Amino acid sequence: MSTVQEKLDSLTKAGSLYSTESGGAVRCQACAHRCRIQPGKRGVCLMRFNRDGQLYVPWGYVAAANVDPIEKKPFAHFLPGSDVLTFGMLGCNFHCDFCQNWVSSQTLRDPACDNSLAYIQQVSARDLAAYAVRSGAKAVASSYNEPLITSEWAIEIFKAAKKEGLRCAYVSNGFATPEALHALQPYLDGYKIDLKCMTDAAYRELGGSLQIVLDTIRLARELGMWVEVVTLVIPGFNDSNEDLWEMARYLASVSNDIPWHVTAFHPMYKRLEATATDSETLQRAAEIGQEAGLHYVYAGNLPGRVGSLEDTHCPKCHAVLIRRTGYLVRSNRVTPQGTCPDCGQPIAGIWS
Ligand code: SF4
Repeated sequence: MSTVQEKLDSLTKAGSLYSTESGGAVRCQACAHRCRIQPGKRGVCLMRFNRDGQLYVPWGYVAAANVDPIEKKPFAHFLPGSDVLTFGMLGCNFHCDFCQNWVSSQTLRDPACDNSLAYIQQVSARDLAAYAVRSGAKAVASSYNEPLITSEWAIEIFKAAKKEGLRCAYVSNGFATPEALHALQPYLDGYKIDLKCMTDAAYRELGGSLQIVLDTIRLARELGMWVEVVTLVIPGFNDSNEDLWEMARYLASVSNDIPWHVTAFHPMYKRLEATATDSETLQRAAEIGQEAGLHYVYAGNLPGRVGSLEDTHCPKCHAVLIRRTGYLVRSNRVTPQGTCPDCGQPIAGIWS
């Protein structure tokens, strides 16, 4: 067993998102892989494992904890202008070759990530929540790695955060199970979900499945979570008009009020030969989103280069409500009640 695995296995406890099966096997329910794990074996994420018929899951540590603008997650309609204590652990249920956080997400899968061990800090849920309060954050968010695979530990942190009056969020690939979403529902206010593409074949290459992610977007909203969707637009991968139209149409069919962030890709990890996304491509994607009927479409990762696509507009009178440059909120006119101050139109989101 590697030193990295030994260390991570020491930071675990028996989880709850699983069922037991014959022969000492367990069936994990934290993500839609639904791994059936025999005693002594590990799931696809490599972070959850069967020890003597019980599923052990990550617990009691973070590999990163930063106080960031909530715009960086990105959320545009969730406490804009606020700071959020963002924490993450290690590992992922996907293996995207363009991952922007690959050093933390691909631990145990890629030896190049072994130095992520140096980032680990043991911490209690109460101390993390207290740190968020001391930092002036209004929310805590699980991000950087895939939060679903560490859901039991995230729930423990969210319980402590709720006692402090903080809001809670996931920044996730959306490869969830209904069981995990129902377990998270009492705590999770905001759920940022990646919609990476619209073909199942491409999703399978990344380690997931399209329909599951589409279902998560719908169910998370039905469960009352505030959902924003992000598509990292990668030239040659998901930037065809056909793909973009399909994504936008699907989101609009769930709700016109889902903010859709089309963000620029920069060559990363194993996809270094791909070209970076230009502003014209983002503008084309955003126009498709608007034509599909989405009320709130944002272009991200190219601050100052996408015209008014960083701003929030009233869908009724079209007044500019929030002006942004990158992660900076320059002005915010949405009323604390969540309405346009000019025409009274309700603006979907969490505003106070
Ligand atoms: S979180 Fe997903 S990948 Fe990991 S063990 Fe559970 S079902 Fe498998």
